[in-house]
Amino acid sequence: MYYNIHSGPLAKGCDMCLVGAKAVIFITGLCRYRCFYCPVDRERFGRDVIYVNDVRADTVGDVVREVAASGAAGAAITGGDPLEVPERVVEVSSALKREFGRGFHIHLYTRPTSLNNTTTNALINSGVDEVRLHFLSYGEVSGRLHHIAALKYAGLSVGVEIPAIPGLEASMSGAINALAERGLVDFVNINELDVSDSNIEALRSLGYRVSNGSAYGSVEAAKRLMGLLEGVPVNICRSRTKDLYQIGARIFREAMFSAAPPERVQDDGTIEYTEHGVHPGHRLAGRIKVKMRLGGKYLEIA
Ligand code: SF4
Repeated sequence: MYYNIHSGPLAKGCDMCLVGAKAVIFITGLCRYRCFYCPVDRERFGRDVIYVNDVRADTVGDVVREVAASGAAGAAITGGDPLEVPERVVEVSSALKREFGRGFHIHLYTRPTSLNNTTTNALINSGVDEVRLHFLSYGEVSGRLHHIAALKYAGLSVGVEIPAIPGLEASMSGAINALAERGLVDFVNINELDVSDSNIEALRSLGYRVSNGSAYGSVEAAKRLMGLLEGVPVNICRSRTKDLYQIGARIFREAMFSAAPPERVQDDGTIEYTEHGVHPGHRLAGRIKVKMRLGGKYLEIA
C-alpha cells in the first residue's frame, strides 16, 4: 500500500505524517497568492478560519484540545498562507510545545516570497521545527536567500515541497539546485499534482489533462524532476499514499486513542462496540454498533 518513491532519508515531518502521527492545523484561509495549482477548498480560501483535522477551532485552546483528542505526536501547519498570521503561528506553536513537550514536531508550509524580517523572526521564535517552501522558479527565491539562511542558522530544517507540474521540471530543478549548492535545503518533497474542484478549471485552461484525480503525467514529471536534482534527498509523495495510507493511519490512530472498553478499533479506524459492557468479540455480545468520527462528529451506525 506504499506508493512513494524516495532517495535518501525522509524528512522527519514526512516520516511522522506517513504513520498518521501528524494533526493538520489549517491556521488561516488568508493568502495573497493565486497559485494555479492551489488545492485549498474555495469555501475556506480567503477566510480567516482555523481547522484542526477538519474540525473548526475558534481559539488557541480549541486547537490544543483538538490536537490532544487526535493523539497526534506532531502537527503540520497549513493554510492559506500561515505567514499571513505570524503572531498566530507563534501562539499556536508555543502552546503546542508547552502542552506536549519540545519533542512535539511541527512543520509549516509557506512560499519563500512570504519570508521577510518579521515572518522569519516569528518562525525562528515560534517552536516550528521544519519549514517547507513551495515555488516554481529561481526568481521566487533569489531575493530571500538571507532569510532562508537565517532559518537554517537558527536550527530549523528547511525543505522544498512542490507539486509535480509537467513542463516545469527545468525551472523547478534550477531553483532547487541553486538552494542545494548553497546548503540551504535539507530535503525535497514532490507531490503528485492533485486535481480538485478548486484547481480543475485553472489546470484545464493551461492545457493539463485530468486522470483519476491527478494531472495527467504528473508522476512522470516528478520522476524527471527527481533525476535533475543534485545533492539532496528526494521523496515523491503519491496521491494514493496520502489517501489510502496516511489518512487511514491518522484515523486509526485517533480511534485507538479515543476508544474505551468495551469498544474495539477495526482496521479501517472505525470503532465497534456493544451497549452491554462485553467485548464485541464475545459470544454474549449484544447488538454491535459502529461509530465513526467525521469532521469532529461521532456518527453511530447500528
Ligand atoms: S500559497 Fe498555498 S493557499 Fe495560497 S494560493 Fe498558493 S497554494 Fe493556495
